[in-house]
Amino acid sequence: MDYVLAVDLGGTKIYSALVGPGDVIVKRDVRPTEAALGIEKVIANILESIKTVSTAVRPQEKILGVGIGAPGPLDPASGRIFFAPNLNWCDVNLKEILEKELGLPVFMENDANLAALGEYLYGAGKGYDDLVFITVSTGVGGGLIIKGEIYSGASGAAGEIGHMVVVPDGPLCSCGNRGCLEAVASGKALKKRAQSLIAEGRCQKILELAGGDPDAVEAPMIAHAAHSGDSEARQLLAEAGRYLGLAIGNIANLLNPSIFIIGGGVARGAGDFLLEPARQEAKRHVFPAFRESLRVVPGALRGRAGVLGAAALAHKMVASVHT
Ligand SMILES: [Zn+2]
Repeated sequence: MDYVLAVDLGGTKIYSALVGPGDVIVKRDVRPTEAALGIEKVIANILESIKTVSTAVRPQEKILGVGIGAPGPLDPASGRIFFAPNLNWCDVNLKEILEKELGLPVFMENDANLAALGEYLYGAGKGYDDLVFITVSTGVGGGLIIKGEIYSGASGAAGEIGHMVVVPDGPLCSCGNRGCLEAVASGKALKKRAQSLIAEGRCQKILELAGGDPDAVEAPMIAHAAHSGDSEARQLLAEAGRYLGLAIGNIANLLNPSIFIIGGGVARGAGDFLLEPARQEAKRHVFPAFRESLRVVPGALRGRAGVLGAAALAHKMVASVHT
């Protein structure tokens, strides 16, 4: 069998997989990115992770290429990552570095674009040629599939839904602007909001789950508190959900996609405590004629969307080189 290697490079973890045709993951490896230790360490971790999954290849079998999803806007052709705040990288040519190390063709795309492709080919987006994928995790990312293809815009930055402004002059975002969706609806934003409420003596259930230490609060604890009936945690998620819905309504009016797919660890943990307020809010803003047909669903591939999208990219690019 011929394989491709797929890597989903995130700010906190690296997920690598050896993938056969389609969505057959033969071997996977997940390890910390260790972004704080610098670029050399991150690249060493990527190579180590790739080496681990490559051990499943038998002597008569071949690896055709590597697909990589990386955070931040990048140029797929050259492999240059312009700016990735979660890795603290600026102007890095990861494709060039890895091709030299691996001796294999490397194909790159933005991580959320590849997660969108993964959901389109194998998950909740199957059969929908026009879809919008939004990932709500530590940050908020987005990917667009238009007429069955990733749409990356003039310079690779399309789909940066996390940086759509939903609160003019609102909280400061990691990108330097104010009031971005990421600054009010991401895992980081939820954590900050919970901490400021704890400082006012509220959100005691969340504080309890953090072992009494406000610094130890993390977004999954908010979801956990919401599921166990805590109304303040539910309000926090509903607030984030409404901002997400505002963005969805605006995007629906711009692109008229068949479906919105919401993935990412925070969205998964929060479930309908986030998604239902998002649906309701989106319906308030979408063009009335399309209100009833607006569909907002959770992702179906859990953490695998990015890696399966990266594999699909590698398979497609390798095939296009050979034809
Ligand atoms: Zn921003």
